Amino acid sequence: MRTPLIAANWKMHKDLDGTTSFFKSFLPLAERAAHCEIVICPSFLDVESAVNATRGTRVRIGAQNLYWENEGAFTGEVSGPMIKASGCSHVIVGHSERRRYFGETNETVLKKTIAALDAGLTPIVCLGERQERNVETVLEEQFRCGIAGLSDERFAGIVIGYEPVWAIGDGETATPQVAADAHRLIRAHAKDRFGAEAANNVRIVYGGSVKPGNAKSLMAEPEIDGFLVGGASLDPVSFAALVNL
Ligand code: PEP
Repeated sequence: MRTPLIAANWKMHKDLDGTTSFFKSFLPLAERAAHCEIVICPSFLDVESAVNATRGTRVRIGAQNLYWENEGAFTGEVSGPMIKASGCSHVIVGHSERRRYFGETNETVLKKTIAALDAGLTPIVCLGERQERNVETVLEEQFRCGIAGLSDERFAGIVIGYEPVWAIGDGETATPQVAADAHRLIRAHAKDRFGAEAANNVRIVYGGSVKPGNAKSLMAEPEIDGFLVGGASLDPVSFAALVNL
């Protein structure tokens, strides 16, 4: 059995006050959500307060990005060991917004994934096609060039996020069937490259306009091992509804 992972990607939202008030409301609501892992990824500036607010709870904190070198003259970047030392357990790698606005490629995604694992973080490695009709080609290429380069041991340490870009942010969710088909495709690539057991063990979470109103039917698909949530994770009540499914 794969333990569901419900992860919040706050993107460039919330300052210190917003982070503090989120946890004040969210933590009591999430107390009984023992069936899943909960990860919240605030901005780098709010990691420290998020880590402090969740100390002693089951809620884990993640970063939204990292650089692949450990340290050096890389102005504006943050490394895996720095993120780990700040108290994070996870990091999102290769989100479609990073690919689209910041030039990330399958090759840099692979480097970042390795750097995250080497720092002791769990990378949530994002894949997803821009247009629905390209799903097979894009997933094959992103898997082959971005994930297949991992060693077997490293592959065992990642979570995959399937996020069809057309479903992110604008309210157009993939149907449970479409999402599950894509997850099956990714798992088939994982099986070809890493073997049946590794493919069966890897968690593939879905992201793209997940909300309390559509989450139950998505989660009913055995292929869907949880969610990566943007918009609906900003509100403590709606994110609590997702972790309490
Ligand atoms: C995301 O960008 O990771 C995401 C899933 O966003 P939303 O839930 O807002 O579609």
